[in-house]
Amino acid sequence: MSKIRIMDEILANKIAAGEVVERCASVVKELVENSIDANSSEIKIELKEAGTSLIKVTDNGIGMDKEDAILSFNRHATSKIKDESDLYNINTLGFRGEALASIASVSNVLLKTSQGEIGTLVNIKGGKIIKVENTEARKGTIFEITELFYNTPARLKHLKSLYTELASITDYVNKIALSHPEIRFTLINNGNTILKTDGSNNLLKTISSIYGMDVARKMLEINNEDDDYIINGFISLPEVNRSGRNHIITLVNGRVVRNQELNKIINDSYHSYKPDNRYPIVVINIELDPSLVDVNIHPTKMDIKFSKLEELLDLVKKTIVNKLNRQTLIPVIEQPINDFNESIIEEKVIEIKEEQEALIPTKEVLPKIEKTKYEEITLNFDNEVIKEEEPKYEERLPLLYPVGLVHGTYIVCQNEIGMYLIDQHAAKERVNYELFLDKLSNPIKDKIPLLLPMTIELSNNEYIILKENFEFLNNMGFDIEEFGINSVIIKSHPVWLTKGFEDLQIRKIIEAVIHKEKDFDLAKFNDHLSATLACKASIKANTNLSINEMEELINDLRKCHNPFNCPHGRPTIITFTKYELEKMFKRSGFESLK
Ligand code: ZN
Ligand code: ZN
Repeated sequence: MSKIRIMDEILANKIAAGEVVERCASVVKELVENSIDANSSEIKIELKEAGTSLIKVTDNGIGMDKEDAILSFNRHATSKIKDESDLYNINTLGFRGEALASIASVSNVLLKTSQGEIGTLVNIKGGKIIKVENTEARKGTIFEITELFYNTPARLKHLKSLYTELASITDYVNKIALSHPEIRFTLINNGNTILKTDGSNNLLKTISSIYGMDVARKMLEINNEDDDYIINGFISLPEVNRSGRNHIITLVNGRVVRNQELNKIINDSYHSYKPDNRYPIVVINIELDPSLVDVNIHPTKMDIKFSKLEELLDLVKKTIVNKLNRQTLIPVIEQPINDFNESIIEEKVIEIKEEQEALIPTKEVLPKIEKTKYEEITLNFDNEVIKEEEPKYEERLPLLYPVGLVHGTYIVCQNEIGMYLIDQHAAKERVNYELFLDKLSNPIKDKIPLLLPMTIELSNNEYIILKENFEFLNNMGFDIEEFGINSVIIKSHPVWLTKGFEDLQIRKIIEAVIHKEKDFDLAKFNDHLSATLACKASIKANTNLSINEMEELINDLRKCHNPFNCPHGRPTIITFTKYELEKMFKRSGFESLK
């Protein structure tokens, strides 16, 4: 009995035609998804010249009988979609039929398939069947595509460089491997293995295969749920980031999807933990009732709309922010792993999760901390489901004892865990930033009169804009008036400006008010202004602080909501753990590696 049905003509027309096979990656995608549909537990993709000379996909799936093998190249043949409603069910992998026929019409295809008894070989070139014969009976399916686009020179010309083709195939295979950690994937180009996953259904191991052990050890597991959504996955520590957003991967019910709002909220959740032009590595799976999504199925992309989007965004943001707010986020400086070391680590340290936890100081190894709040946080960070609404910020930084200053810039500190370097400018900037943000967000009108009122001369258009904003400035704590042509006079300023930097800060505030965006967002404005003022008011490099001043700065930093980054996302502090120091000085042998 044939498993493949001829699709209804109307349904076939609904599927956008002609765009299915654009590039080598679309061929790979089609064949791999066929293999997944065939319940394969192992899929091997072999390429020559990034797929332009050969694309070979071998699986161990259920295979096809002779009838289906021939029929699979028929336009509109499919075993997946039975009726229209299936098109909108995210649980099916999409649609078939169109694509194989298209591939066969522009290349030379050799198909070998078997359900375990008799094997079938089909050779089709340019859409014409050249050969059908019996062959060996290895269960599963092998597709070999050569001479791709041989009869459509325009398409062939359209292919980008081999590098670009390979990058887009790799990107696709990475994502499909992440959405199927239970399948063993191998990707090979010109004999070089690019990706190999173990099919153990461990997402962190798949992440490790793609990004390497160092990244995998710096991934944090997240889990959360509400009435409509269950989310789980891994997010990178802020110190692990990339220049593109491509590493934020969202899955819905196990399928890679694209949703801009979702990507944005994930990135926004890292605000001020990392520079704005860097992006985290995130793999999040969202489970939900398929009726809550509207999927726009298109052969080459997978856009999705959620009917309860706000709720989902809230849940995702809360989960990530709570997770980050519970970590000690001090980048650990590690000795680069040499080859000898690596092989030992490869063997022994596959329990990545334990490793990951070892990175974060646990209660036992933390230095004496007087307040109990820190301990509460430490005890809590394992809780899978976060119940408290308000994360506790206080004292996420351990107690540190300053030892001295290097290059007038870096404060050297120590405690039982190791040695720390604090960038004094970045640290002071963070302290000031949180202070200013608080003052700007909760304005009190206490002001200080200027001994010498300050006059500022502006261009005519700046003057017009500023005049419209007198009230805005009054509310901040300024007394400002017109003063002759295109000039203003400032007689008092808010109390919280930094002593000695008042002039500079007033000018910065005036500048910011003049350049307020049209679609003004007060929270954003306050955030930017606080960061700017903080930078101006903070100690520069090459300033020598006394030990007392260092202690004071460290104390202030410990009180910050996020003590780990300056407002621009640069780190304020890094550490060399005692263990790493010992390793670097060869004080501990390799045998001490767990
Ligand atoms: Zn700065
Ligand atoms: Zn900064």
